[in-house]
Amino acid sequence: MKNKEIKILLSAPRGFCAGVERAIEIVKKSITKYGAPVYVRHEIVHNKHVVDSLKAIGAIFVEELDEIKDKSRPVIFSAHGVPKSVPQQANGYKMEYIDATCPLVSKVHREAENLYKAGYHIVLIGHINHPEVIGTMGQLPEGSIDLIQDEHDVETYELDDNKKIAYVTQTTLSVDDTKNIIKALKKKFPKIKEPFKEDICYATTNRQSAVKNIAKKCDMFFVLGSRNSSNSVRLVEVAEQSGCPHSELIHSDSEIPFEKLENCKVIGISSGASAPEILVENFINEIKSKFKVKIETVEIIKENIVFKVPGKLN
Ligand code: SF4
Repeated sequence: MKNKEIKILLSAPRGFCAGVERAIEIVKKSITKYGAPVYVRHEIVHNKHVVDSLKAIGAIFVEELDEIKDKSRPVIFSAHGVPKSVPQQANGYKMEYIDATCPLVSKVHREAENLYKAGYHIVLIGHINHPEVIGTMGQLPEGSIDLIQDEHDVETYELDDNKKIAYVTQTTLSVDDTKNIIKALKKKFPKIKEPFKEDICYATTNRQSAVKNIAKKCDMFFVLGSRNSSNSVRLVEVAEQSGCPHSELIHSDSEIPFEKLENCKVIGISSGASAPEILVENFINEIKSKFKVKIETVEIIKENIVFKVPGKLN
């Protein structure tokens, strides 16, 4: 078997973004400052490996604040952001909280709020039930923001003619799919107000462009990331849409499809913004155990964005 050689095109940038690095750092620094346990509302980022490693040093993950038994302990809000009701609830419980919402998600929150104050009715392009969508919708009073998931939703969407309309988006959407939804929105509502600066974040955009750049050269494409990680799932779709129909998500329960690899000369690898690089390394090592491997990194842009952790943790 080892006679077979596979070339790996390693997509770059891939993996951790600045928002994820910051959220993980916030949990670690909180444990150092306050001691264990520190509670975290929702998976801090959507990755089992990250969550398990933080559990091991004293983080306890809950979905809602009322599950927290000892309310004298601090709680951290995840990188995806939270509805306004969550810090209000924490204040009601007199709990200390640390907000690990990515600054680029907070930017969308502020944007939605400002548009609402300026009298706009808001449309959020995003995926139903994703925590970021719940958080963004929860910045505004019910009925003032509607979710649109696809072009079909645009077709059926109705709004009083006398209302001003604006849109914002989830940060981790497919750049291309979102363009089409925005096009449909603009056709239906020519006066719709756009965000001042694109809401899909730099990390999502860069990871998708990098995958797009190499997908058509690959016989198979693999994205390391969790099933509930929006940007990882989008990367699989981007690889498929960009010329590699055999694209798969490799998550914590995945089995490596060695038999399919037998028929591959070139494979592509990327990872979602919440997936640590160790998962890519382990995956490559598994492939190396069966095949001769040649690796070429294909980098389209260098990232140097860093977000500071809240001052009270320093
Ligand atoms: S994917 Fe983008 S918005 Fe989400 S945490 Fe990373 S940088 Fe922030």
